[in-house]
Amino acid sequence: MAKVINMIGKKYGRLTVQSFAHSDKNRQYFYHCSCDCGNVRTIPGNNLRSGNTTSCGCYKHETLVKRRKHGGIDTREYRTWLHMRRRCLTVTNADYPRYGGRGITICSRWDDFANFLADMGPCPTGYSIDRIDNNGNYAPLNCRWANFITQNRNRRLTVKLTFRGQLMPIAEYAELMGLTYNQVRKLANTVIP
Ligand SMILES: [Zn+2]
Repeated sequence: MAKVINMIGKKYGRLTVQSFAHSDKNRQYFYHCSCDCGNVRTIPGNNLRSGNTTSCGCYKHETLVKRRKHGGIDTREYRTWLHMRRRCLTVTNADYPRYGGRGITICSRWDDFANFLADMGPCPTGYSIDRIDNNGNYAPLNCRWANFITQNRNRRLTVKLTFRGQLMPIAEYAELMGLTYNQVRKLANTVIP
């Protein structure tokens, strides 16, 4: 019974083991568990220890609700919104210094993902969010979906090369020559960072 006693009071995800319930003929042990949401359920100990069950079912339910609400929690638009918020608002985010850290903010209308989606519309494949004015904020008038070339041209530190005596962003030159950005970077030894 040592195995049983060790389980009591332990927490697995949202579930806290309250007491031993019963064992079945396969010697599977079941436990009464209380979920953070207030529900009580009887769950096999194996499922708790393996991490297969981490809530009464409320977690899965919430995820489904969110998915419906956002029109796809796993969409590019939702991920864009989430990462934008992290870059600007989460001090511990790796990109924070280049965004929130240098004063880039998000308009309050975009606190709500539904508004963001309504203003930006669906993100075309191969595109990502781009601030037209790189020092401007995340707001409807300053944001668009842009492809890699447009974005790159618009970077704060655009890498340029000299072409026929003219300083030109690499991305623009690559497009002109029908090459990829990386091909040009490798070829060019006249790169001025
Ligand atoms: Zn629950």
